Amino acid sequence: MAPKNESARLSGRALSTTFDAGRKLPPATDTLKRLLADPATALDVLGLRDRARRQGRGFVLLCPWHEERTPSCSVTPGPDGTLRAHCFGCGGGGDVISLAAAVLGLDVRADFPRVLSELAARCGLAGDVARPLPALPPLRPAPPPSYPPADEVRDLFARCLPVCDDPALSVALLGRSLDPALIADRDLARCLPPDGPLPAWARYAGQSWRASGHRLIVPLFDSWGALVSLHARSFAADADPKGLSPAGYSSAGLVMADGFARDVLARGWPAWWNRSERLTFVIAEGVPDFLTDASVFGEWDQAPATLGVISGAWSADVAARIPDGCRVVIRTHGDPAGQRYQRQIGESLHARCHVEVAHG
Ligand SMILES: [Zn+2]
Repeated sequence: MAPKNESARLSGRALSTTFDAGRKLPPATDTLKRLLADPATALDVLGLRDRARRQGRGFVLLCPWHEERTPSCSVTPGPDGTLRAHCFGCGGGGDVISLAAAVLGLDVRADFPRVLSELAARCGLAGDVARPLPALPPLRPAPPPSYPPADEVRDLFARCLPVCDDPALSVALLGRSLDPALIADRDLARCLPPDGPLPAWARYAGQSWRASGHRLIVPLFDSWGALVSLHARSFAADADPKGLSPAGYSSAGLVMADGFARDVLARGWPAWWNRSERLTFVIAEGVPDFLTDASVFGEWDQAPATLGVISGAWSADVAARIPDGCRVVIRTHGDPAGQRYQRQIGESLHARCHVEVAHG
């Protein structure tokens, strides 16, 4: 499996970023990355769709970076909402520009302007990439400033570990009939690192989350599916409160979400979805129920998207990102708070979605 060219050894994302800065072409590359964010669209444009096999939210295809007989190159929506290609055989990959270069047999570095022209032409845009291409709306608006600093949130979550690495936490999860391995596999929550600094906001009543035993860290997302905050949770019987928001910041309007739900919030109906099937959203109340619901379903094609709401707070912004015509299953608690929450979600969606209430 010898690489076809040098670029296979290097990350395409890093390369095209370098070239963006060096040649002052960000408008063209940004526009193309946004136009080709959806894997199905990108593969159509590159003439690869017929030979690609659907898998999860993306596709698997024969690698354009190396010779192979069994497809091992995955093309999926990346964490920033643009397309990401990665070959499990040779390690080649990158963004849609790198993928296009490999498919066209061009060198993403040496032939960068030509790759852009070719892609732009295939997208029906002006071939001259020196001229700015039509502006598109940003992938998502900037988050409101009421959340902790984004870099600190990302840094802490990146340093958190799979929940199975924390034996005491794993035992607590198992005690709730939650499978730590599934939670880790789907990256629904992580555990605090055992040492190292924590941001100033990761504390409650003068104690750090580590000291107070709030070691389960659940990522919270905005209505566009972007990571903007973290929620810390303790499973100790005497923990009060059991769940903590970052000190000094609000978690209002933020939701827990599995990968599929984040994807739909970011981009709407998946292009690959079989439209004869309804897209289902499950909305769970509280951390344990969210983790339960989001662990139940596998990677099968028509699995529901799972959202979780803490303390019954629901936001009109999140409701607005749930596509028309979805089936929405509200998994509420039977208490008065659960009923209020049920009413709030139902009122925000019943006009354009099929809303059901499931008492769990
Ligand atoms: Zn490969």
